[in-house]
Amino acid sequence: MKAKILIVEDEPAIQELLVFNIMEAGFHALRADDGDSAWLQIKNHVPDLILLDWMLPNTSGVVLAKQFRADVRTKDVPIIMLTARGEERDKILGLESGADDYITKPFSPRELMARIRAVLRRHLPEMSDETVAVGGLELSPSAHRVTCAGTSIDLGPTEFRLLQFFMTHAERVYSRTQLLDQVWGTQVFVEERTVDVHIRRLRVELEAVKKEGLIQTVRGSGYRFSVN
Ligand code: CA
Repeated sequence: MKAKILIVEDEPAIQELLVFNIMEAGFHALRADDGDSAWLQIKNHVPDLILLDWMLPNTSGVVLAKQFRADVRTKDVPIIMLTARGEERDKILGLESGADDYITKPFSPRELMARIRAVLRRHLPEMSDETVAVGGLELSPSAHRVTCAGTSIDLGPTEFRLLQFFMTHAERVYSRTQLLDQVWGTQVFVEERTVDVHIRRLRVELEAVKKEGLIQTVRGSGYRFSVN
């Protein structure tokens, strides 16, 4: 699951730099150079994070951040504000408008990527590329690998995403519909019993390392990943 990052930046050189670094880090980059083009992008793909420049033509980043917070599609999407203005009162204004974090230009791409990862980790743990270890399993999103005490477990792409979601949301019950939304995405039409098919496959793979019990069926509700 690649996180989609919408970059709203009107300066072509900075936009290029951002796109390059975001793609290099393994994320999907969407670009816009003003408010109108940002909304056009959002109509097609709701991003997982928005990098928003403060000084934009027509509508400023502060006004746009407020619009994003007020729209049902983007109200929960984390925003990192980019700005050349480093004053404390600007920072406060940026955060008050709904931004989650704030970075001052010129910024180092490394620092920016660290901020992006931190925000994604907070908002979307399943989108993080850091290794997750729960219940004796270790899952590495960047290497696309799951191991148990050194033994590699071979999973199909859907089972991998399903396990990644479970491991980052352990001990909670999810209905089939919720799993479809979270793991398959809202853009595709899949029947609920598809979830059962992939859960079954995942359990079969986990059986090889005696970990099938981690995925529990909660009668009448759905499924839960639990170490208890
Ligand atoms: Ca600008």
